[in-house]
Amino acid sequence: MIKTDVCIIGAGPSGASTSLMLSKMKINHYIVDKSTFPRDKTCGDGLILYAYKSLLQLDQNLFKAFLENPKFIHSKTIKLHINDSLNVNIKESEDRDMVITYAKRFDFDYFLVSHLSKKYANSEFGNGVKKIIELDDGILVKLKDGKEILAKIIVGADGVNSIVSRKLADNKPNKKLTSTFVNAYFKNVTGLPKTNDAEIRLVYRKTPLFFYVFPLADGSVNVSLGARTDLIKKYDINLLDEIKSIINSHKKVAHKFKNASIIGLWRGWSIPFDFNSKKVYGKRFLLVGDAAGLTNAFYKEGVGTGMMSGIICAKKIALSLEKGDFSESFLATYQNDLNNEFSRLLRFSHLMVRMARYKYFFASMVLILKNYFYKKIPSIIKRKSY
Ligand SMILES: Cc1cc2nc3c(=O)[nH]c(=O)nc-3n(C[C@H](O)[C@H](O)[C@H](O)COP(=O)(O)OP(=O)(O)OC[C@H]3O[C@@H](n4cnc5c(N)ncnc54)[C@H](O)[C@@H]3O)c2cc1C
Repeated sequence: MIKTDVCIIGAGPSGASTSLMLSKMKINHYIVDKSTFPRDKTCGDGLILYAYKSLLQLDQNLFKAFLENPKFIHSKTIKLHINDSLNVNIKESEDRDMVITYAKRFDFDYFLVSHLSKKYANSEFGNGVKKIIELDDGILVKLKDGKEILAKIIVGADGVNSIVSRKLADNKPNKKLTSTFVNAYFKNVTGLPKTNDAEIRLVYRKTPLFFYVFPLADGSVNVSLGARTDLIKKYDINLLDEIKSIINSHKKVAHKFKNASIIGLWRGWSIPFDFNSKKVYGKRFLLVGDAAGLTNAFYKEGVGTGMMSGIICAKKIALSLEKGDFSESFLATYQNDLNNEFSRLLRFSHLMVRMARYKYFFASMVLILKNYFYKKIPSIIKRKSY
């Protein structure tokens, strides 16, 4: 049996960032993932705010390497189309470099994993966690190949279907606080802005659907559509039919896809935004990223928030190891630390999602508040990013 202070389960952006931060603090640990890297993950591939802030906090050189990586492209504009005639342009000023980066998760997650410390991080990739058992002196993590890791504390960075969240925190999925998305890559999409603007559209059916078109470094385009999981079910919405219909006949979209063809297959996945309605800590464990439900309900940032939660989690673990205290009461302040960082923005995103359900009311609100937003947004971006 392997004995270690910390075992991180999941090496997506949240787990990798936890590992990078632990290594920065010279803390030995294990990091386990059922996949080997590079591996794909269904995602819009857009990186904003907290992704930049986290990279910078982890290591200035990592941020520099990220900026210089030819597989990642950057843009200064996000265009949010509330309807066909009203949009909000989130634009960076002349003196700042970008407001969004497009990075295929195949490449970005590998980029992070390839920077894990050789000295402090012991990786077990391609070896999924099958069982977690609570013992008196730690948590026993049993892997697919029979290996056993006994850790003083474990981190659940294993995404939306987290085994740590289910088994140790006893969390249940909440369909009201989850989105379902379908997504695919396309080639030969034409007529996109040369400035690589992000295109985000609210497409109204019986509930608003969120449609994303993000350009990528290899000339392909990532296209996604989704909405709240319970409402998709309630209104019997077939996301695949809807996204095909938008691509084929939406008056502002279809012309760009006239000669386009899909690369690979359509994929579907969930996005959890149930942070604050689930348990994210307990005796000897902490949850990060999707496992903690930390995605932004409105604009679906989950990579950056996940990374930042990894940094916060690693700092809490350092304190826990220093004091030798892994009790639930000691780790409870982790919830406050996450709240301090994310609560306001996540609460605002929930409000936006609720308001967006009322098409005309939401459009009127945006119209009235547009100039206020334009004044506010630059300072929020600066505070929450680089
Ligand atoms: C269609 C779609 C579009 C999205 N678009 C964006 C976007 O544009 N920008 C953005 O910021 N976010 C977006 N998101 C959200 C984003 O993908 C997630 O929030 C993000 O991946 C969370 O990172 P994570 O590290 O917490 O989890 P994950 O990336 O899911 O990583 C979890 C890791 O845990 C591993 N794992 C799982 N179970 C086990 C196990 N039992 N044993 C060992 N390892 C295990 C997995 O192999 C995986 O590597 C989107 C999501 C979807 C579905």
